[in-house]
Amino acid sequence: MSREVKYIFVTGGVVSSLGKGLTAASLGTLLENRGLKIALQKFDPYLNVDPGTMSPFQHGEVYVLDDGAETDLDLGHYERFTNTKLSRFNNLTSGQVYQEVLDKERRGDYLGKTVQVIPHVTDEIQNRIRDLAARSDADVVITEIGGTTGDIEGLPFLEAIREFALEVGPRNAAFVHVTFVPFINAAGELKTKPTQQSVAKLREIGIAPNILVCRCEKPINKELRQKMSLFCNVPYEAVIEEKDVDHSIYEVPLMLQRERMDDLVCQHLDLSVPAADMGHWQEIIRKLIAPQNQVRIGVVGKYVELNDAYKSVYESVIHGGIANDCGVEIDKIDAEDIEKDGPGDHLQDLAGILVPGGFGQRGIEGKIAAVRYARENHIPYLGLCLGMQVATIEFARNVMALEGAHSIEFDPESPHPVIALMDAQRDVTMKGGTMRLGAQDCQVTPDTRSSRLYGAFAISERHRHRFEFNSNYREQFESAGMVIAGTTTDGKLVELIELKDHPFFVACQYHPEFQSKPSASHPLFRGFIAACHQTLQGRS
Ligand code: GLN
Repeated sequence: MSREVKYIFVTGGVVSSLGKGLTAASLGTLLENRGLKIALQKFDPYLNVDPGTMSPFQHGEVYVLDDGAETDLDLGHYERFTNTKLSRFNNLTSGQVYQEVLDKERRGDYLGKTVQVIPHVTDEIQNRIRDLAARSDADVVITEIGGTTGDIEGLPFLEAIREFALEVGPRNAAFVHVTFVPFINAAGELKTKPTQQSVAKLREIGIAPNILVCRCEKPINKELRQKMSLFCNVPYEAVIEEKDVDHSIYEVPLMLQRERMDDLVCQHLDLSVPAADMGHWQEIIRKLIAPQNQVRIGVVGKYVELNDAYKSVYESVIHGGIANDCGVEIDKIDAEDIEKDGPGDHLQDLAGILVPGGFGQRGIEGKIAAVRYARENHIPYLGLCLGMQVATIEFARNVMALEGAHSIEFDPESPHPVIALMDAQRDVTMKGGTMRLGAQDCQVTPDTRSSRLYGAFAISERHRHRFEFNSNYREQFESAGMVIAGTTTDGKLVELIELKDHPFFVACQYHPEFQSKPSASHPLFRGFIAACHQTLQGRS
């Protein structure tokens, strides 16, 4: 008899930004720790084929997978919270669905039929759920539906999961609805009406949630739980409280475990598995709540007012902190403010400076000034992607005295284009999915800080860029003292640079932040935070 796969669908109600992704990822962690093999996927109702072409202001960070898929940032939570391996099959947008349906229509696959949302679009969505179940060999597939219940564009996805659940039967599908229970200051009360209405909206479509996850600022008392149970037609114990976390998002799995959400899911889906042992996770939280040490680092970027724009970077520095039993406070600094006020005002009290990835001219000179400040004042520096490119430009201008050195992304006429367009990018005209993307092998130079941190010479890291270190200048850089600490396996592209005689100056062309976990910090972040802490000790 074939094994029965169980399906969990996570929808969201009332408002966006409730942390559905975190809830889905946290449930994934709990189930994984109960010995189940899980798979996680995200459905995004917008029409873009992927978020790769969207501004961070629209969408937050673009999370890159090994296979080069540019995906929603919730996939970052999935990878950080669980051991699942993700690929382009784990993120589906309406754009992809329609592209597929229209390709089929043009090929004549529909044999003269009228092509419609039901059943053609919904079938395509369901295929992606089945496809992931088959590919992942998972016991439980968790599918998160982006957007908010009631959005027009989300309807085909909701219809598709309703039909899917009907087909697999009630013991094989569970609906989790993440909702918001606002605290109204003037009344001094939590209000359940938005939740009632959101659930009513779902039931109108034919979906009756089995579990309600209530996001709230204050605890939900018994009376309110009873009320939501009654009006939303879910058992009392299926009203789960998910209060704003005190310290860290990594508390969410423990919070849901205390509310017995995983027990409920297992009961509903007839899964008889042992309870989750979350001891290792508790240890992570202990280090986050009461670290032995504390540092404050600055992230100098362009989208600092948006928490989501550098999500994985912020998480990774926190992981670096966990690995060093060190709390990390992050000062988000707008590169344009450095241009206005000079670097000292913003950077002088920091234990470390980080410049993350980015695109476009705005704030570039501020980032270059931040690098200079870190280099000259011996403040640990970590540069990621654009952060390596600005470090290269700074070194060319101020150490090698190459006046006007720049990246041709920002100054196509630069007399010293130390960052140049990659050969493979020269004829690229389409913007979507055409950068150098995904995991690439890199060889780390022996006897460098990076090789000691990685403890390996062969590594694989994820990329997302069009421009690169101009190898025509490589020897000049090396004679001026820059260390080429890593290259592509053919030795041609520079992937990692370092400076000697500095407490920590490391910058990479790739994105290590896409491969860091709370339980296993990426080595570069671990090394960076260790250096920040040591430098601070040296100063005091
Ligand atoms: N804009 C730079 C490039 O395309 C850096 C990209 C990034 O930081 N992800 O090469």
